[in-house]
Amino acid sequence: MIPIKTSKEIEKMRAAGRMAAAARKLAGELIRPGVTTKTIDREVRTFLKSHGAIPSFLGYNGFPAGVCISVNEEVIHGIPGSRKLLNGDIVSIDVGAIVDGYHGDCASTFVVGDCLPEHRRLIEVCRGSFFAGLEFVQKGCRIGDISHAVQQYAESNGFSVVRDYVGHGVGRNLHEDPEIPNFADAKLHGPRLMAGMTLAIEPMVNLGVRETYMLPDKWTVVTKDGKCSAHYENTVLVTESEPEILTPPEGDGFV
Ligand code: MG
Repeated sequence: MIPIKTSKEIEKMRAAGRMAAAARKLAGELIRPGVTTKTIDREVRTFLKSHGAIPSFLGYNGFPAGVCISVNEEVIHGIPGSRKLLNGDIVSIDVGAIVDGYHGDCASTFVVGDCLPEHRRLIEVCRGSFFAGLEFVQKGCRIGDISHAVQQYAESNGFSVVRDYVGHGVGRNLHEDPEIPNFADAKLHGPRLMAGMTLAIEPMVNLGVRETYMLPDKWTVVTKDGKCSAHYENTVLVTESEPEILTPPEGDGFV
């Protein structure tokens, strides 16, 4: 059952989305060689708290931090800690914020100092695949149309798409129906989109193989071949016309 948000709920989703995006922006500004990932987590948590917001991920299924910080071959769910970022690393920041009972959820991959051109391209294509999918966030399209567009964009640019984790509806709960895969199964067209649905579309795109595995910490997901991965996510609202991005991209490392 996919929740359709009322106009009152959509206002709350806008506020949560703006907060999550502001936290992503802050995290991006903190990224530099030498900074530890736990410093970024602490600053983001302080920021959210000072604005009356709650980090969505803190304690979610037992996650021990406010922000997922995944470096290089880490795909998602990296746990902040004493690791220092190095020049040339790429860092995926995934942050959710609860405002007035509603979640905003967004992510982006940032560069630490200078990185290899192939890594920058990976990050650009991952972000581009989100916007390719966004074209199909239209009343009457199906979830599978988004999935297909994301996959086509990423794979036609020579990268692979993670199959093991998918996007999701978001609202009163961090994860709601529907699932939003970043790949299209011929058998699965998925539900039709209706105005008032709020969706977290989040391609995870790999430089090498698409397969992943989980580290012994039971959280951090890494690429099977150890090559870099990028992640990009926004919370979006299906409307009667153009989609509305509820987590404004400003501060995502590109705009
Ligand atoms: Mg998400």
